[in-house]
Amino acid sequence: MSQDIRVTVWNEYRHEIDSAEIAKIYPNGIHGAIKSHLSSVPGLTVRTATLDQPEHGLSEQVLSETDVLIWWGHMAHGEVSDDVVDRVQQRVLDGMGLVVLHSGHLSKIFKKLMGTSCWLKWREADEKERLWVVQPSHPIAEGVGEYFEIESSEMYGEHFDIPTPDDLIFVSWFEGGEVFRSGCTFHRGAGKIFYFRPGHETLPIYHHPTVLKVIQNGVRWVADSRGSIHTYGNYSPRENLSWYEGPDFDEHPQESQMQRPTPRGMR
Ligand code: ZN
Repeated sequence: MSQDIRVTVWNEYRHEIDSAEIAKIYPNGIHGAIKSHLSSVPGLTVRTATLDQPEHGLSEQVLSETDVLIWWGHMAHGEVSDDVVDRVQQRVLDGMGLVVLHSGHLSKIFKKLMGTSCWLKWREADEKERLWVVQPSHPIAEGVGEYFEIESSEMYGEHFDIPTPDDLIFVSWFEGGEVFRSGCTFHRGAGKIFYFRPGHETLPIYHHPTVLKVIQNGVRWVADSRGSIHTYGNYSPRENLSWYEGPDFDEHPQESQMQRPTPRGMR
């Protein structure tokens, strides 16, 4: 029996509090809607965290118990503390999976991991979006078919200023004529990242069954880097080098070997 994947759904959770209209669509918050679906999936254990909790709900303890972090933010990216962003980044480099949704493209954590502006074009015109699967063999596209549609969407258009993704899984077409790389994966350190475009606070997109299915597939895919061990720093030879004595770490203790991450089975 393999252990459950431990998922933390993070949401800034401001729009749903500020607007009665939005609260009607997401009475338990966007995080609540996503959690409600993922909790029904066997093999996942799901918790939530929000911006206004102490340490934004992302303490060392919570992150150490998180295999996959899902990120939704929009109006309050600037309120996320740099210390927490650094902590999340380190966990990704150590092997935690990260799923960034929709307007999370401008979050501090996504920009830091990408190293680019992550800007794009946008328009709110309640237009149709058709998401084409361009890598049908990818596990994140499992069960989706050739394409799926969202009747009423916010448009995001190219150019999307990201590094070239490792996998491009979905390309969106919008009724107004633009296209967008809507499903992209990246590897950073030992961690895997999935960016997925759909979702907007004023639209019921996180109730759309295919959107939820793709988020679920994404969680499984980014969780999959668990268990690799990497050694950094000075390295003892694997074979006998009779003439080699190695450095004196009494003088430079910080240069001795570091191992990370802790394999999942050893936690
Ligand atoms: Zn939006």
